[in-house]
Amino acid sequence: MAGLIKVSAGGSLGPCPLCGAAEGQAMTVHRSAGGALSFLRCAAFAGGRAVEAALLHCASCDFAYFSPRPDAAFIDGYYRSQAGQGGDPTPETLRRKVAAWSTAQEVAAVAAFLAGHGVRLEPGAQSLVVDVGCGAGEFAAFVHRQGVPVLAVDPGRANCRFVADEIGCAVAECDVADVPEQYAGRASLVHCKDSLEHHADPAASLAAMGRLLAPGGHLFLSVPNWNSRTLQADVFNHPYFAFPAHLNYFSATALEKALGRAGLRIAALTGTTFVSELFYCAERAIKLQGLRPEWAQLDADAAAGALERLLVLAEKA
Ligand SMILES: [Zn+2]
Repeated sequence: MAGLIKVSAGGSLGPCPLCGAAEGQAMTVHRSAGGALSFLRCAAFAGGRAVEAALLHCASCDFAYFSPRPDAAFIDGYYRSQAGQGGDPTPETLRRKVAAWSTAQEVAAVAAFLAGHGVRLEPGAQSLVVDVGCGAGEFAAFVHRQGVPVLAVDPGRANCRFVADEIGCAVAECDVADVPEQYAGRASLVHCKDSLEHHADPAASLAAMGRLLAPGGHLFLSVPNWNSRTLQADVFNHPYFAFPAHLNYFSATALEKALGRAGLRIAALTGTTFVSELFYCAERAIKLQGLRPEWAQLDADAAAGALERLLVLAEKA
């Protein structure tokens, strides 16, 4: 019932941020005593302010989202508070993030996923890779080292300075929708890992990614999987999943429709757990060295419906 429900913060709920449905479409997510989801609404505090939002599900496109959206100043204050001391993360903090063991695993896993579908990160194979929501440049640094041209995009000032100084690749300090026009139609690959769930206007972001791609170019996307039972169980209690950091939750159906509106067609889609990166790495180890690590826990997680993340490869027509 988007447009009819009033929240105590005072804002009326707008149309679905992914498909734009505006009348009689969204329902507030809740659960019964035995269900998976525990609350209807969340509050967040930052910069001396509090905002409140409800988790809605769009019946039209199967997208789940917090509404109303906090304003940009509030979100900025929230991230600064998360970075520590209420300010930007220091270069030392970002350096530790890039050097973390799990970073190399995640980057290798994405590269393996792409290679598995014929998208190689080698000189000559890519005209330009755009890394959307580049963070500390974990993936951008890898691509740059391969000798592939890369443009790192992030709205965070500290991230952009760090990437420019440490990696030396092209950097755009902005949202993806505001990337300079000179890059339109030039990317052979857009990489957007664990970022779209933070975007206030995911439809605009996907449209912008579509515009950056050359015909035949690819978009790699990883997002929280709305249909994951463990994600639903954690969505309000886990600091990673919680409002206001995550504003959006996607299903395969929602993504297929949204990507279609952005001129993109899904070439591959799979569900993974957060340790699935290890799986990809191990798979390669098995092939290369005949090793066989224990994956019982991963199998158990998958069987229990974990699969908290969707990995997507889409292609521009
Ligand atoms: Zn929708």
